[in-house]
Amino acid sequence: MSTQLDRIVSLCKRRGFIFPSSEIYGGLGATYDYGPLGVELKRNVRERWWRAVVYAHDNVVGLDAAIFMHPKVWKASGHVDAFHDPLVDDKVSKRRYKADQLIEHHIEKLRQRGKPARADAVQCRLVAALHADDMPKALHAIIMEEQIRAPDSGAFDWTEVRQFNMMFETHAGAVASGDSRIYLRPETAQGIFVNAFSVRDAARLQVPFGIAQVGKAFRNEIVARQFIFRMREFEQMEMQFFVKPGSQQTWYETWKKWRWQWHLGNGVPEKRLRWHVHEKPAHYADAAEDIQYRFPIGWREVEGIHSRTDFDLARHQEYSGKKMQVYEQSTKESYIPYVVETSAGLDRTILMLLCEAYREEEVGGARRVVMGFAPAVAPIKAAVLPLIRRGDMPVIARKINEGLRATCNTFYDERGSVGRRYRRMDEAGTPICVTVDGQTLEDGTVTVRDRDTLLQERIPADNVLLYVSRVVNAAGPAL
Ligand code: ATP
Repeated sequence: MSTQLDRIVSLCKRRGFIFPSSEIYGGLGATYDYGPLGVELKRNVRERWWRAVVYAHDNVVGLDAAIFMHPKVWKASGHVDAFHDPLVDDKVSKRRYKADQLIEHHIEKLRQRGKPARADAVQCRLVAALHADDMPKALHAIIMEEQIRAPDSGAFDWTEVRQFNMMFETHAGAVASGDSRIYLRPETAQGIFVNAFSVRDAARLQVPFGIAQVGKAFRNEIVARQFIFRMREFEQMEMQFFVKPGSQQTWYETWKKWRWQWHLGNGVPEKRLRWHVHEKPAHYADAAEDIQYRFPIGWREVEGIHSRTDFDLARHQEYSGKKMQVYEQSTKESYIPYVVETSAGLDRTILMLLCEAYREEEVGGARRVVMGFAPAVAPIKAAVLPLIRRGDMPVIARKINEGLRATCNTFYDERGSVGRRYRRMDEAGTPICVTVDGQTLEDGTVTVRDRDTLLQERIPADNVLLYVSRVVNAAGPAL
C-alpha cells in the first residue's frame, strides 16, 4: 500500500469514517464498517446518485430488490458457469493475484518506462489470451515469458493459473441439501432484470426507460488488500436502461456523458479521470468502458458503462419461460429490449472522494491535514463553536446550531482550544466553522471560517443559515 493510502486509512479510523469490521476480534478480511462521518459521506453520495439518475429523468424509476434470489437467476445470468477470476499464487509469499491484472500492471509499467512498442505487443497478447479457449494457460504463458514478478515479494515463482468462482453460497431453510442452495447476489443488476416488466407495467413506462437500484453485493474476492477498493461485501449503484435494439449505441454514449459529468459534480477533477475500454467485454456486452480514477495505487475502475444487448432478458426468457418482450404498436413488432447499464461502486466512489479530498499543508508553521470535500458531499456542513465554554457564548452557539440542524448535519463543539477544534473539523472535511466570541455578545455577529482559504469574516448570527446553505448548494449541478 502506498504511504498516502496508509495515511488516509489511519485518518478514516481516527476520525470515524471507516473501521475494519469486527476489529475487537482482529478484523475480518476485506470487510469494513462505516462510522459516523463515513455514513454521512456515503448517504450524501448515494443521494446525489439517486437525484442524478432517477429524479433527473422522468423515465427512470427506482427499485429495491431482495439480496437473495431464485438460484436459477444466477444460472440464467451466467454467474454460476462464468463468474470466475483467473488467479495465480506467488509460492514465496503465498499471496494470490488476479492473473490478468498482473499483466495489465506490467503493461502500465512498460509504458511508464518508455517502452510503448513492447507494451502494445503484450497488450495484444493479453487480448488474445482473454479470448483463448484455455484462458488460464494463455495468461500463465504471458506471465512466464514476460518474467512478471510478484508485486509484494519480488519473486518469480508462480503456481499455475486457476479459475475461481466468486459467488458466496448459503442454504435456505433448515436442511443443507443441494436443492436449498442459494447465493448472496454478486451484483444488483439481476434484481432489475427479473422485475423489469412488473416495474414497467406498474409505473406505466414505455421503452426507453430505466430502473435504478442501490444495494449490497457480495463477491468472494481473493485479492482483497486495498482498503475499501476491493471488498467482499460492498454497495453498488446500478441503473439498467431498456432501449429499442439499434438505438443502444446512442444511449450508451449519452449515459457515458451523464455519468462522467456526475463524477465532476462531486468535485473530482477531469484530469484524474479517464475512460478505459474493456479488452474483453463480459460475455453479455457489445461495448463496455470504465471510468477510472487515478488512485494512489494507480488508475483503477470506479464505474462501468456497459451495452449489454438483450443477453440478460433473453436468458431470463429462456430459463423462466416468461415472455420478456415489448410490442410496438406502430410497427406491429415484438422485440426483447436492449440494455445500457451504468454500474458504479458506492464504496469505490467514497474511496475516490477520500483520496481526492486528502491534503497535508503547512499553515503558519504548523502542519494541518484537510479533507477538502465538495460541500455537497461533506459529512458535516458546519461546526458551531463557542470560544469559551462558560457564560452566554454556549447558549447563543447552541441556538445557532439548532437552527442549522433543521436543514443539514452540523457539529457542536465547546471543548478544547479553538485552534484544535478547527483542526478536527479540517480533518472531518467540514467546509465552515461558525465561532461565537466576545464580540457576538456585543453586536450579534459571529465569525465564519472557510476550511480551504482559512479566511474569516464576520456576519450577523441571523445570516448563518443563509450563508451555510449558499456554500452547500454552490457545489454545482446534481448531474
Ligand atoms: P474489478 O475489475 O475492479 O473487480 P468489475 O469489473 O468486476 O471490477 P463490475 O462487475 O463492473 O466490476 O461492478 C461494477 C462496480 O462495482 C465497479 O466499477 C466497482 O466500482 C464496484 N465493485 C466491484 N467489485 C467490487 C468490490 N469487490 N469491492 C468494491 N467495489 C466493487
